[in-house]
Amino acid sequence: MAPRKRELIVVSNRLPIALKSDSKGWKAKPSSGGLASALAGVKQNLSFKWVGWPGADVPGSDQPKVKTMLEKENGFTPVFLDQTQIEQFYNGFCNSVIWPLFHYLPNFVDFSLPFWNEYKRVNEQFAEKVLPLCKKSTSVWVHDYQLFLLPQILRKEIPELNIGFFLHIPFPSSELYRLLPVREELLKGLLGSDLIGFQTLDYARHFASSCVRVLGTDSTHDQVIYKNRKIHFGTYPIGIAPNDFIKTIKAPKVVRVRKKLEDQFKGKTVILGVDRSDYIKGIVPKLQAFEAFLEKNPSKRKSVVLVQVAVPSREHVKDYISLKQQMDELVGRINGKYGTPGHTPIHYITNSIPFEELTALYRLSDIMLITSIRDGMNLVALEYTACQKEKDGVLILSEFAGAAHSLGNALFINPWDIQGVSNAISQALAMKPAERKKRVAQNLKYVEAFSSLAWARRFVRNLESGEHELPPAVVDLRHNLPILKKEYKSADSRLIFLDYDGTLAPFAPTPDLAPPSNRTLSLLKKLGKDKKNDVYLVSGRSRKVLDKWFSNIPIHLSAEHGLFCKEIQIKKWLQLAPSNNDWVNKVFPIFHDYLRRTPGSTLEKKTNGITWHFRQSDPELGEWQAHELTIHLKESLAGMPIDVIRGKKVVEVRPQGVNKGTLVKHALSRVKPDAFVLCFGDDRTDEDMFSAVPQDAWSCRVNGRNTAARFVLPDYTHTQKILNELSAL
Ligand code: UDP
Repeated sequence: MAPRKRELIVVSNRLPIALKSDSKGWKAKPSSGGLASALAGVKQNLSFKWVGWPGADVPGSDQPKVKTMLEKENGFTPVFLDQTQIEQFYNGFCNSVIWPLFHYLPNFVDFSLPFWNEYKRVNEQFAEKVLPLCKKSTSVWVHDYQLFLLPQILRKEIPELNIGFFLHIPFPSSELYRLLPVREELLKGLLGSDLIGFQTLDYARHFASSCVRVLGTDSTHDQVIYKNRKIHFGTYPIGIAPNDFIKTIKAPKVVRVRKKLEDQFKGKTVILGVDRSDYIKGIVPKLQAFEAFLEKNPSKRKSVVLVQVAVPSREHVKDYISLKQQMDELVGRINGKYGTPGHTPIHYITNSIPFEELTALYRLSDIMLITSIRDGMNLVALEYTACQKEKDGVLILSEFAGAAHSLGNALFINPWDIQGVSNAISQALAMKPAERKKRVAQNLKYVEAFSSLAWARRFVRNLESGEHELPPAVVDLRHNLPILKKEYKSADSRLIFLDYDGTLAPFAPTPDLAPPSNRTLSLLKKLGKDKKNDVYLVSGRSRKVLDKWFSNIPIHLSAEHGLFCKEIQIKKWLQLAPSNNDWVNKVFPIFHDYLRRTPGSTLEKKTNGITWHFRQSDPELGEWQAHELTIHLKESLAGMPIDVIRGKKVVEVRPQGVNKGTLVKHALSRVKPDAFVLCFGDDRTDEDMFSAVPQDAWSCRVNGRNTAARFVLPDYTHTQKILNELSAL
């Protein structure tokens, strides 16, 4: 039997077609974009489908026909958007909120609730088209900022799906990202993915840092752990299909166009700019820099021209309309000032130009000038480089374009530094041919090796390798509730061990701010009053705090991670292990040093231990310092009878062998061996309890997976709910 074909569904805002209607009906012309050509190479061995908006407002009556045509002819599934959706979703939320913010222009952000609501609706609408095409084994590759919410919507419906996401634009620093009113929702949507790709390492770092700061996730250099899932992320700089350009520059039609242009610009140095008319491209600073260059270099005024192609873009969005006016005025002013009857300094083209003409321009230009103030990648830089094979044009490239991370042999500029850009033009003009050739050759090596095809293959391969889930070692306790209830009800005697912070109650910013709610107290009272129950509240907190909060509740208390125990019958705190404080003097200065160097952190001195809390500190600094402190303590205390423990947002030092497991063993020794045992905890320190209870006990880790417990629960609200149900039996 032939092996089953792997399935890949690509989802992007736009389908790679131009859809037009005439008297004979609708026609779809394939458009050759970077993505379409990249995917052409990966789809051969796959069952491949593409879902997206066809790019035209198709009336409802025509939609069935267009759908059938696209499905039959291209294997595409269209998502039809009406005019309001285009206005509010596309022009609105995508291009007036995400686009400017993600390109570091928060003043251009125009947030409104209707835009956001439409964004959510359109993402749902995409999901409705994708889901019927999916099997559990399907891989779905979602593209770009228009569809941030889609991964989580798909994940919710089919948890087994393999979902990849690639962001084509920058991901801003978390300082900027935090400004977004819906910052949590977008990240949660994106974290439905298994693998997330970014153009540069910086964008990937910004994303991970935003997850830590906005959602409080655990993140490493290539993973985010969120809701018990492991989400991989990495750098996947997109490429072009260099051979398409290398072939085209030799085509007779292109050679003809080039010759014509060469005649037109005979004896002149041509600087080329090719940009969408978008404020991120920095066309205004580019024109200003060219003006500064002409001002400073009178001898070059008649021998240098700037050919600026400004492709129309988002012409109905307010900020784009004023940008166009600004550019028009500036070009008019410079041409008026430096032009002569026989010479125009700036050739300004405000249309899209055919591919042949574009490649001819790339080929003949002496300098390519790219001044983006932010740009995900900038394919033009790669395309120009491909067209310089066997030539020596100089690439002047903004350090704020993603391409700057790949094309290390460009001349780099800061587009905000107008004089600096003008100087770079002079430097390029003066550059010796040997150096120009060397720079082209190095950059070309990169463009040829890291093609769009290689990019797509690498992403799909990593997505399909699918090692994204944490091992499902444990079972959700909610799935076993009926059996738990049955065993609980039929038991004659029950031992119940409950951790407090994070298990029964939410974490508070500082330890003294988490007193039990009335609901928690009455739940504990009810459990404690049941004659069959022995309830132990096993906390890391001090005796004083536990006395203050729980002295009127009929339960046993254990303080300082099992060191002390106060049982109802005895009503006195007993110490379960001898204390030895010789080490305290040695560790205190170390802790104090980290306290001083980590704003927001606090020290808690216990009878037999020291705990450093950093829940209130900057999350990244806190994790970093905790890591350092743990190593520092382990090295300083090597050989001493002491444990260094990393808990949740805490580092603790305590005597070896004193832990919550000690308390559990103490309690177990006082009941019949077949007693019913229930044990809930959420932290590394609770693992000692899980290891100490009998194997068939009902042990449950709240909010965590790598555990010795048999079961897991998502958070403390579920602990409360289950205990309430049990106490009502
Ligand atoms: N381009 C085009 N028509 C033109 C000029 C350029 O289609 O008249 C293409 C160009 O070849 C490149 C793309 O537009 O592939 C621009 O991509 P880039 O990453 O530079 O910028 P973006 O527009 O995606 O922000």
